[in-house]
Formats: sequence, structure tokens, C-alpha cells
Amino acid sequence: MTPALIVHGGAGAATPPALQTERRSGLTAAFEAGWNILVQGGTALDAVVQATVTLEDHPLFNAGLGSCLTEDGTVEVDASLMDGTTFQTGAVGAVRNIKNAIQLARAVMTDGRHVFLVGEGAERFAREHGLPHATADELITTRQYQRWQAQQTTGEPGTVGAVALDSSGRLTAATSTGGVFNKRSGRVGDTAIIGAGTYADSAIGACSATGDGEDIIRATLARTAVELMRGGKDPAQAARTALAHLTRRTRGESGLILLDPFGRSGVVYNTQSMGVAFRSEGRFVVRV
Ligand code: ASP
Repeated sequence: MTPALIVHGGAGAATPPALQTERRSGLTAAFEAGWNILVQGGTALDAVVQATVTLEDHPLFNAGLGSCLTEDGTVEVDASLMDGTTFQTGAVGAVRNIKNAIQLARAVMTDGRHVFLVGEGAERFAREHGLPHATADELITTRQYQRWQAQQTTGEPGTVGAVALDSSGRLTAATSTGGVFNKRSGRVGDTAIIGAGTYADSAIGACSATGDGEDIIRATLARTAVELMRGGKDPAQAARTALAHLTRRTRGESGLILLDPFGRSGVVYNTQSMGVAFRSEGRFVVRV
């Protein structure tokens, strides 16, 4: 089976021209990190985690380094992932001082006792599992600090995610974010919620969503989109129908990426822009 991969860098306001080249190269590097794993026969799970880590480590995306700040001026991140074959999931919410939240979500999944850890308990779990720690100073970029100081609320894109199909037919999805600008401490968004921001079922499809988290949770967007592919239905159409459902019922703004077990894809958004990188008909495509 031919592998497939889509990486996204969030949906929101148009990317300022000065940031476009760097965002494009970040998405390209993330795609390559995941793609190299897939073409060497690696798993979809490793591919989505590696692609997501690459974007968490990039300062121009709202995840890991470069996360937006809460109203208290802190960083609290959310992340989740789902293996569509084993139906195992791992999620973390409102976590401080973690370098790569997606690796923490993966550790929660591998540990298997629980599927969702938040706050201090999640931070303790990260320490016990030896995951790289990062202080607020190490996670906050000058750019995000200045936005917070100026209370600049423009909905810049930057949440990150990936969906992959590996050569054994396994579908996996992952999503990671700093959340929404100026959120209350303790707020957890769709990115940490299986079925809202992330969902995968290897028999049907995989989805990673981005956008207005409260609305995405209300619409259980990722699971809705995947269920719309049941029976081999076209992912592009499923993505449009899921987004129309979100818009109609909540007026939310969002973007989502979908893959099905045949490697067919769907990419839609109702925001000004959405960063994506994928391969289509043998050609690499990257947009910001
Ligand atoms: N969905 C994310 C959240 O609400 C934010 C985003 O995707 O831009 O936390």
C-alpha cells in the first residue's frame, strides 16, 4: 500500500507576508520528517508524531515553542493522538513546562492506564517518563510575548497536526496547540479532545482539526468528518459536509485535514488561510 501524509499548521487569519517563507519551510520540514518514516516502512504513528514534534519545535507555529499566551501570561498546551488500528488514544490538556506535548500524549497512550491527563498530574507524569521539560521562558517567543503585551487578538493560524496512512494500512491522527490567544488558565480546547480535534479509525479515515475549539467540541468535528466517509465516501466531500455542519450549528471557523484508507484526502477551511503540506499525484504541495 502506498503511504500518505498530510500536515497542517493551523487555520485562521491570513499569514502575514513576512512570515510566509518561514512557515512554508516549517511545514515542508515537518512533512519530510513524517514522509521519511513512511517511505522506509515506518508506522503512521511514528510519522504523525515526528511531523508534529517538528512543528512544535518551530517558533512560528502555535504549539510547543511559540505557543500563544494565556491571560495570565503563561503557556498551557493541549495535544492528542489516536491510532486508528488499535483504537488507542492519548491526550493531555492545560499542561505547562513541556517541550513536546504530543510526546506526552503518546506516553499517556503507551502507558494505557488512562487516556487523558491534565494540568499538574500530566506534568508529573511527564517528569516520571523523562520527557523533555521546558520553562515558560524557553517556550515563550518574543513575538508571542509582544502580541500578548499589545493584546493583539487577530486569529493567526498556528495549531499543528498530521494524519498519516502507512504501508500496512494503519491510519493515525495527531494534533497539538498552545490554544487560543488570551485564554483563561485551565481552559482546554478541542485539540485535546478525541472526536473533536483528533480522530482515527483505520477502517474509515483519520482527521485533525483546527480553529474555534469551543465550536469544534460542540460539533464533535473530527469524528463527524470521519463518520461521513463510512462506506468509502469521498473525503473531500466529507470534509465539506462536516465543515458545513460546524458552520450551520455553531458559526465556528475551522479547518480540517482528512485521509481515507485508500490514501484519498480532504482539506477544507472556512478561515482566510490554512497551512498545509501533502503529496498529490506524486507532487509535493505546500500552502500557507
Ligand atoms: N483549536 C485550537 C483551540 O481551540 C486553536 C486553533 O486551532 O487555532 O485550542
